[in-house]
Amino acid sequence: AATGGSTTVRQVKLEKECELRVEASADSPLRLRLLTGTAEIFGTEIPPGIWLNFPPRLKFAVFTWYGATIEMDGSTETDYTADETPMISYINVHAVLDGRRNRAKASPSDSDTSQGPRVIVVGPTDSGKSTLSRMLLSWAAKQGWKPTFVDLDIGQGSITIPGCVAATPIELPIDPVEGIPLEMPMVYFFGHVTPSANIDHYKVLVKELAQTLETQFSGNAESRASGMVINTMGWIEGVGYELLLHAIDTFNATVILVLGQEKLCSMLKDVLKNRPNVDVVKLQKSGGVVSRNAKVRQKARGYRIREYFYGPSNDLSPHSNVVNFSDLFIYRIGGGPQAPRSALPIGAEPSADPTRLVPVSISRDLLHLVLAVSYAKEQDQIISSNVAGFIYVTDIDLHRKKITYLAPCAGELPSKNLIVGTLTWIEN
Ligand code: ADP
Repeated sequence: AATGGSTTVRQVKLEKECELRVEASADSPLRLRLLTGTAEIFGTEIPPGIWLNFPPRLKFAVFTWYGATIEMDGSTETDYTADETPMISYINVHAVLDGRRNRAKASPSDSDTSQGPRVIVVGPTDSGKSTLSRMLLSWAAKQGWKPTFVDLDIGQGSITIPGCVAATPIELPIDPVEGIPLEMPMVYFFGHVTPSANIDHYKVLVKELAQTLETQFSGNAESRASGMVINTMGWIEGVGYELLLHAIDTFNATVILVLGQEKLCSMLKDVLKNRPNVDVVKLQKSGGVVSRNAKVRQKARGYRIREYFYGPSNDLSPHSNVVNFSDLFIYRIGGGPQAPRSALPIGAEPSADPTRLVPVSISRDLLHLVLAVSYAKEQDQIISSNVAGFIYVTDIDLHRKKITYLAPCAGELPSKNLIVGTLTWIEN
């Protein structure tokens, strides 16, 4: 039985600046529609009168600026109305960003002033970073901007599967049900769900992504003026903090939004105090943000991978393909077998270049791993190339030297060069 949830068709009246917070249940459908007034879900207005069907487990809020009546049908894990939200402060940030975009647009010839705001959202896990990023993007898109969304959160990314850093232009407010369209994201595959697996490699990818975007912006005044919104990981201590600073530098962030953490905010203010063009702004965390423990997070990663192959509403059918071992070249980045200490001169430390490309021979170790298909045609470009998509290894036949994998579509892969990390998935 659901706790705090309900199962009947019912109407909820929302006063101005209030929100209905909902957690869809894991196993029964939920739909909702707007009866009167206006309302939005994470920055995207919902159409009047039309039923929206929500996937299982989705956690969201229907917020109204001026008042609305919502009708809900189906059971929820929880749903309640909240009249205290940080939305006013969030929309104020949007207004400031909008002003900066207009200024950038007004001076297209100057390379400095034609750059719109580069916003980076930082804070601990479950502080609402992804949600705030999404609102800022949707509000901007609603006004006709085409901001670039950059997602550096390899643990729970919103653009593609976990283990990646990615970017995509946002041309329309983000669909509350479907999420970010998967059409043309720029994706770099790290292959692990925590950067500590290979810090240097992670930094290389962040840099590659930033450089690629820089090149795109230089030829596109519209995207340049629209700026970017960068979502980050929840790891903010020690090396995690270093990586935040690295991201701020690499992307030349001009606005740093710190969610729910005094300490992080004052640390960043202090370290960036000599940069007059960088604003560090503290924002309140929403009481609606749902905390997820490690297990829930791990499960969410699995759902995300499933969604890549089967679609958000289970509406895609991936293809199973069988190829010869010799048809694929699989690589791992960094680490690799090191020379044993005994084989080294006395006093020498075994070293392994963290960004070295290491060929991987096909074995049953690859079973249940998710591999990325590189765009690189040549071996030496693999580390700096983005990826076309992913495959999932379902069988290894050592005897016949055949590998069976799941891919989103049939036919030959765009490249024979694949990258493997530690990203696994058990299909269920
Ligand atoms: P972070 O990116 O900091 O880890 P998220 O933005 O992903 O945090 O938020 C965590 C979860 O809380 C998500 O499932 C999100 O949909 C949910 N959430 C965020 N804000 C609200 C809200 N106001 N009401 C209900 N759920 C929310």
